[in-house]
Amino acid sequence: MSKFKLIDFARYSSIRIGPRVEVLVLDEGDDIPKDHFLIGGANNLLISNNPPPLMMLGKSYDFIKVEDGSIIAGCALKSGRLLSFAKKNNIAGYEFVAKLPGTLGGMLAMNAGVKSYEIFPLVESIEINGIWRDVKEIEHGYRFANLGGVATRVKLRLEYGYDDALRAELLALRNNQPHEPSAGSVFKNPPGDYAGRLIEAAGLKGKRIGNMAWSNMHANFLINLGGGTFQEAKELIDLAKSEVEAKFGVLLKEEIKIV
Ligand SMILES: Cc1cc2nc3c(=O)[nH]c(=O)nc-3n(C[C@H](O)[C@H](O)[C@H](O)COP(=O)(O)OP(=O)(O)OC[C@H]3O[C@@H](n4cnc5c(N)ncnc54)[C@H](O)[C@@H]3O)c2cc1C
Repeated sequence: MSKFKLIDFARYSSIRIGPRVEVLVLDEGDDIPKDHFLIGGANNLLISNNPPPLMMLGKSYDFIKVEDGSIIAGCALKSGRLLSFAKKNNIAGYEFVAKLPGTLGGMLAMNAGVKSYEIFPLVESIEINGIWRDVKEIEHGYRFANLGGVATRVKLRLEYGYDDALRAELLALRNNQPHEPSAGSVFKNPPGDYAGRLIEAAGLKGKRIGNMAWSNMHANFLINLGGGTFQEAKELIDLAKSEVEAKFGVLLKEEIKIV
């Protein structure tokens, strides 16, 4: 029997935008519908007023353990729990997920990372639509992975030696991040440049429409000043794309997913 969860995206999503909708919850053994968009923790999403049917992973995919020389985790596991597991068990490599909000599924789909650290080098295999696939078979790159389905479980590298100094060093890089609700970086950095630099050079740093604005602290972060709407966010995104293209000939590509 299908289970649904009522989600208010104006509270659930990190950018605090979106309607209240019933989201289909997938647990072990459930069929995966083809026409639903899968959400994780909604830290990289901008949800419109009329999104397609949505689905999310349920509690049976929220676990982490060590087994046969690897870490096995469910893709609903939050990054904070991955980090605390690594710390508690003296495991190396996951320090960069500190304050990188998301679920393991969302991190895999985005190949989430900080500086030269990203999740894929730590992945051994991923269960996608019920089939385990070796990481070598999965195309991936900067903030992108072609999973081709729903990631439910993942096998991750197990190496000992948790490095708290590295965690603190990577966390310090986040000092320039705004504190207002956002979905992280809106655009991917184009090759050899920074989206934030281009948005600032186009004169849009701090630009506000309604209750949304390009942040004064970090121009690639779209922030919600309280009650901001999807339309305001979309207008600012379109404005940045057209101004940056007109002034510098660079077409910015969204990192966030507009749903
Ligand atoms: C303040 C802030 C700071 C951030 N800093 C960083 C950063 O430094 N580096 C970085 O890389 N990102 C950063 N982000 C973005 C975000 O944290 C990552 O993209 C994260 O991986 C999103 O995970 P999520 O579970 O919230 O995914 P969602 O936002 O819910 O979804 C993102 C994508 O993943 C797909 N997806 C989700 N779960 C699964 C699954 N189980 N199987 C297949 N596909 C799935 C969704 O369909 C969607 O396409 C930041 C965000 C915020 C709000």
